[in-house]
Amino acid sequence: ALTQEAREKQGPAVTIDGQQVRISANVELPEDLPLIRENGADGVGLYRTEFLFLRSEKGPSEEEQFALYREAAEWAKPNRLVIRTLDVGGDKLLPWLSVRPLETNPFLGIRGIRLSLQRQELFRTQLRAILRASTQGNVALMFPMVTDVSEFRRARELLGRVRQELEAEGHRLEDVPCGMMIETPAAALMADLLAEEADFFSIGTNDLEQYTLAVDRLNDRVSSLYPSPHPAVLRLIQRIVEEARKHGRPVGVCGEMASNLALLPFFVALGVEELSMGSVLIPRVKTAVRRIRVADASEGVNAALLRKEAPEVLEGFNRLAEHFY
Ligand code: PEP
Ligand code: MG
Repeated sequence: ALTQEAREKQGPAVTIDGQQVRISANVELPEDLPLIRENGADGVGLYRTEFLFLRSEKGPSEEEQFALYREAAEWAKPNRLVIRTLDVGGDKLLPWLSVRPLETNPFLGIRGIRLSLQRQELFRTQLRAILRASTQGNVALMFPMVTDVSEFRRARELLGRVRQELEAEGHRLEDVPCGMMIETPAAALMADLLAEEADFFSIGTNDLEQYTLAVDRLNDRVSSLYPSPHPAVLRLIQRIVEEARKHGRPVGVCGEMASNLALLPFFVALGVEELSMGSVLIPRVKTAVRRIRVADASEGVNAALLRKEAPEVLEGFNRLAEHFY
């Protein structure tokens, strides 16, 4: 029999009035995988694939990728594993895949889906490995750094071609949901149109903050100028979630904000379905969800959002958090 503590860790996170929020894991390295079970993750909301490419000398083969994605799918089973396609560029540079000439502003350069669409041989290999691994569990995939409808369409079309190719080779594949990160202000503002294209959204608050506030996420000198949560970012998040829900698309949050207990009533009141975070943070957030009443959260959140500056908004959110936990 499970102890009380184990039941709490492994059980679902449901508010007092019955709204469930999936609390899932962000995985950066294969070593993180055992932690997802230990901490009762409701799935993997973000499997970052960069490590595979950063540690390799010329790029990982399809077989290498397939083995790792399959391993992750097995750890996540029966819950969902969301694999994000390669997101290098920005601060993560690959010696064997350098963008030449060097960019002055790599965060505004060839990054994420932009790189994948330019280096299609690399992208195809990754998509093949993901689709093959999808038969081993409950797998979805998503694209990072989407700014435009055409990028998503091109990426998804390529996915369709890769799928046909695999089927022609005799692979029998299930449907694999195909979503996108919403982490640029352009994507947030286009959420209504993107929701017609993508199966789900995952909000990347780290980049959404960086690009909305024009603040390099690695530069402390500027990041401290704008305390979080900046109302502009909250407005974008509200818009993204509302549009996703209007179109019946599931929406999650996978940036650092997802594990911030002060923001939890905000996400719950909006109706975010999944919060994804480092595994060790999961039990604490699950416990907090179980103390929230959605009706009270909505009221408190709306009052806090009337405030105009981040510290005031935060104060409102903190007061609400203290009321619940
Ligand atoms: C984000 O931008 O919030 C995110 C989750 O992706 P990464 O931190 O890998 O850029
Ligand atoms: Mg990001």
